[in-house]
Amino acid sequence: MKKQKLAILGSTGSIGTQTLDIVRQHPEKFEVIALSANSNWKLLAEQVREFNPEYTLIVNESHTKDLEKECTETKVLSGSEHLSDLASLKNVDTVLNALVGYAGFDSTLRAVQAGKRIALANKESLVVGGEIITEELKRSDAELIPVDSEHSAMLQCLAGESLDDIEKIIITASGGPFRTFTKQQMKEVTVEQALNHPNWNMGAKITIDSSTMMNKGLEIIEAHWLFDIPVHKIQPVIHPQSIIHSIITFIDGSSKAQLGLPDMKVPIIYALTYPKRLQLDTPRMDWNDVQNLTFEPVDYDKFPCVRLAMESIEKGGYAPAILNAANEVAVQRFLNKEIGYIHIPEIVEKSLANIDWNDSLNPETLKEIDKETRNYAKSITK
Ligand code: NDP
Ligand code: MG
Repeated sequence: MKKQKLAILGSTGSIGTQTLDIVRQHPEKFEVIALSANSNWKLLAEQVREFNPEYTLIVNESHTKDLEKECTETKVLSGSEHLSDLASLKNVDTVLNALVGYAGFDSTLRAVQAGKRIALANKESLVVGGEIITEELKRSDAELIPVDSEHSAMLQCLAGESLDDIEKIIITASGGPFRTFTKQQMKEVTVEQALNHPNWNMGAKITIDSSTMMNKGLEIIEAHWLFDIPVHKIQPVIHPQSIIHSIITFIDGSSKAQLGLPDMKVPIIYALTYPKRLQLDTPRMDWNDVQNLTFEPVDYDKFPCVRLAMESIEKGGYAPAILNAANEVAVQRFLNKEIGYIHIPEIVEKSLANIDWNDSLNPETLKEIDKETRNYAKSITK
């Protein structure tokens, strides 16, 4: 059988390395054509030696020489402009986009235009440019398959169903490390505490987003675009055990859920093999273990980011892009210890209130609004 040829963007990150674990389990099914990292050239060089890609991209140009010296059998590229080139290589079937933030948007768009299967971890692509990407999808043979565990759950619940029969999507959220904190305690949260997620081991940006629950807000926007569903039909619910990855209720009152241990390899492999399945060697749930599956409502007062994200998509246009850019800056400023934890939603809210943009949506204006919002969000003082 023909091997599926992969370009893995962000191969040195949490999702990227887990994708390579899957490739390692199934060398007969997958072939790596391209890999990319931002600056971790040492891990990238190890991956090149193991997986032998035709192309290797290091975005941070100061490491190009190091990488070239270590890896002579691959074509080494450098600079962010090549990310979208890798996303549209002729001999690639599937682009796994595991970049972080707005930096992943161009690659998703180019992969769609090139008619690829896109295994999309980079949810920010759809948050900032969902309208542009879904319009392009209508014009191409590309397939956009989510890697995010909640959206993979939705896709699995939708097998054999019609989108018209969805009454409601219940998107589950762990609630993160501060679920039981008071608002007062939230004021004192440190970087170290916020980086310590109870159920998932992920990159820094999404870990902070999970703790503020901005991640759930971004995921609601992601679900809206993926399944063409209005936001008022998407209901977040806290499920601290992260066993049920999401639930869909249909118009006849029946609900389907998808369950499993919190393990990103399961949605990653499904995005690669959809609509089929492939054996995966990974821990299974023991259903004889006494387990409580519990649910509670989201506290929008304590986690304003969920509300801000939902409002931004209701507002439409550039609002979700402004939300995203302000959030990326605020998270980075918090990680740099320049601002306190509770300033993250404040920066997002101020940016949404003070930046307005009414031009029609296109990739160039998106770039401008992203830049303007970043400058504004950086300038906000405590
Ligand atoms: P990581 O931070 O672990 O990895 C990010 C990868 O992208 C690394 O290879 C990094 O390179 C590279 N990278 C980062 N910034 C840039 C940039 N500006 N330009 C080019 N390359 C860049 O992130 P995750 O793997 O955790 O997350 C990736 C995406 O998947 C995010 O959108 C996240 O929201 C989503 N996601 C992640 C989940 C998870 O469990 N981790 C779950 C669901 C979704 P380097 O190593 O050199 O820095
Ligand atoms: Mg998720």
